[in-house]
Amino acid sequence: MADDLRGRVEELSGLLVAWRRALHKRPELGFEEVETAAFVAARLGELGMEVRTGVAKTGVVGVLRAAKPSRRPVLLRADMDALPIDEAPGRPYGSEIAGKMHACGHDGHTAMLLGAASVLKAVRGRLERDVVFCFQPGEEGFGGAEAMIGEGVLSEHGVGEVYGLHLWSLFPVGTIQVRSGPAMAANDEFVASIVGKGGHGAMPHEARDPIVAAANAIVALQSVVARSIDPMQPAVVTVGSLQAGSAPNVIPEAATMRGTMRSFNDDVRELLRRRVREVLEGTSAAAGCRLDYALHPGYPTVVNDADAVARVRRHAALVVGEANVVEPAPMAAAEDFAYFLRQAPGAFVFIGAGNAARGITAPHHAPRFDIDESALPIGTELLVRIALGD
Ligand SMILES: [Zn+2]
Ligand SMILES: [Zn+2]
Repeated sequence: MADDLRGRVEELSGLLVAWRRALHKRPELGFEEVETAAFVAARLGELGMEVRTGVAKTGVVGVLRAAKPSRRPVLLRADMDALPIDEAPGRPYGSEIAGKMHACGHDGHTAMLLGAASVLKAVRGRLERDVVFCFQPGEEGFGGAEAMIGEGVLSEHGVGEVYGLHLWSLFPVGTIQVRSGPAMAANDEFVASIVGKGGHGAMPHEARDPIVAAANAIVALQSVVARSIDPMQPAVVTVGSLQAGSAPNVIPEAATMRGTMRSFNDDVRELLRRRVREVLEGTSAAAGCRLDYALHPGYPTVVNDADAVARVRRHAALVVGEANVVEPAPMAAAEDFAYFLRQAPGAFVFIGAGNAARGITAPHHAPRFDIDESALPIGTELLVRIALGD
């Protein structure tokens, strides 16, 4: 294959930045990506691509057909949503919408996938398979991926492989990072109310104190990871919120805690769910209290396919050089691309977007989050090579 792909992407690099900044100025939250979806549909329309809008409410799907497909289609995914965060002031392309910010880089994901669509359209004759461009709503806690799959984005096209990218400000620009197997955590949240019997602080024997029960429960929860989980398996249980009582001399009726559990495989996930509940029930019962418990399931583990990762690494080496293709440690953050990877083999890949020399070091979801925009052509070229590649 005569390799003019780098040059084609470089020609687009000004547009990639312009698209990213246009999107950055107009952030929209999950399942509200109306302007963003219209922007995406307009760009795909300009390319003369088949476009479907309103998929899973605000999702957009473009399809580029190979002339003579010899393999099943590949799906490339970008997420489009922003976060309910006030952006730190001072950037010419800063958010124009108070309280909303593209603080996870999804503006860049959208721009890169549009860039890939543009390049792939120009080299369509080389495609051996159809390419499904999936612009997904609501990644940040809304499970937009699951909704898109539910509306047939995979089944309708008979997709055989799936790929997604994430710009990552904690990895240096110029690197591409991907790991085989479990790469990002499953997350589940729980809300547990320990309900006792309120009373006078001076007469605890007449009450059933939910605060003492909650304190014991939280200490006991620390033993779930330490004593119930295989020490070779990473897991986290964190109680991030505890609320009870309002006066020093009153025993309240209830204490309510909220927490999160993270794990990297389904067995550990199940075990965490079961043990956390058992510990809370046991400590509540021992204190003569009742437990009201609700589990809020989050995303499953992101599990990358070994063969797909090997292919990505080969393509990535052409983009950034072999020395800059890195295997990162598993990450305890969660990603709803996990749902795609449960349906078809593929990989979720990090594109380094941090640059300490330029002060681009803020983590994702922070008000000062930014990306080094020279990451945009890197991600675009990788998407193009994945779609065209073996
Ligand atoms: Zn995020
Ligand atoms: Zn994200």
